Amino acid sequence: GTAAEGGKFAEKTNLKNFEIKKFDPPYEEVKSYAVKGSAILRQIPDLRIVELETSKGCSRKEHCSFCTEPIKHKISFRRKKDILEEVKELKKHGAEYFRLGKQSCYYSHPQAIEIIKDIRNQFNPKVLHIDNVNPRNVITKKGIEITKAIVKYCTEGNTAAFGVESFDPEVIKENNLNSDPETTYKAVKILNRFGREPGPNGMPKFLPGINLLYGLVEESKQTNRHNLRWLKRFLDENLLLRRINIRQVDIFEGTPLYDKVGNKFIKKNKKYYWKWKNQIRQEIDSPMLKKLVPKDTILKNIGSEIYDGKTTFGRQIGTYPLIVGIKKRIPLKKFYNIKVTDHMLRSIVGEVV
Ligand code: SF4
Repeated sequence: GTAAEGGKFAEKTNLKNFEIKKFDPPYEEVKSYAVKGSAILRQIPDLRIVELETSKGCSRKEHCSFCTEPIKHKISFRRKKDILEEVKELKKHGAEYFRLGKQSCYYSHPQAIEIIKDIRNQFNPKVLHIDNVNPRNVITKKGIEITKAIVKYCTEGNTAAFGVESFDPEVIKENNLNSDPETTYKAVKILNRFGREPGPNGMPKFLPGINLLYGLVEESKQTNRHNLRWLKRFLDENLLLRRINIRQVDIFEGTPLYDKVGNKFIKKNKKYYWKWKNQIRQEIDSPMLKKLVPKDTILKNIGSEIYDGKTTFGRQIGTYPLIVGIKKRIPLKKFYNIKVTDHMLRSIVGEVV
């Protein structure tokens, strides 16, 4: 389990008055609900990006120390046919924006290429994005083919969220994490090679995102040094990252983390987290964002969402969209093209063009 502010154990509930059953219907059963449930979109007045599940569980034999996914599900993949049926029905009810998410690694789906190819050819959605990816599956021959297909059939602004969690070899070993720094580095390079070129809306087509996690077994001050060293290497070698997510562990019964150390490391190191995170935001995110969307870049189709004082905030519709602040009040729920005029740590300032 992970959270922005972690360190918590799962809440204990009084289960005396409940009948507890495992709720994990097989995809054979889910396929009909998925199609029937699509009509709910009609009851949602605003535009929505729809997340479609492509698999559940984890294909690794031994799992990461903190992860609850293997406790919840055995590995199982949705059939392409069922995913397409759901997209077809959602499209009928007005959906235009899709993200293939929830799965532990999109690349591990046996039909990873065919799914996006068919969605593109049959439904031509305005946005088609993916979510989680295991870097190990990117660096293989098949992985390179999948990367090329994602660039071809999905839309720009797409992000492969790499569950790196840590670049510290000791932490990687003790928590049985799924990727070592060299593998992540190779995967970052591959995505940059095929995906960094901007697409029609101004965002790079397909880039890696890095997920980091604090509170793992054997975490120390060295961990932050390792993280910074590798992230700096990406920056120095002009390799783009779309975003870095930094979270903290929550400790769930049944995970190796719970059995091994519980909250020992998160308790010990919590006092450093703000500093570590801020260091990454200042030293990596800030210069990275300036490379990603330099001043004067035109970003298209920014949907205006809310006001804060005299500023309007908006985003493109998609996975991990960049937040744009426009320094005046403009009508909400409309789309604008903007020119980048300034950079904050993780968001940008723009003017309507
Ligand atoms: S790779 Fe690790 S974090 Fe990802 S689903 Fe498997 S066990 Fe969980």
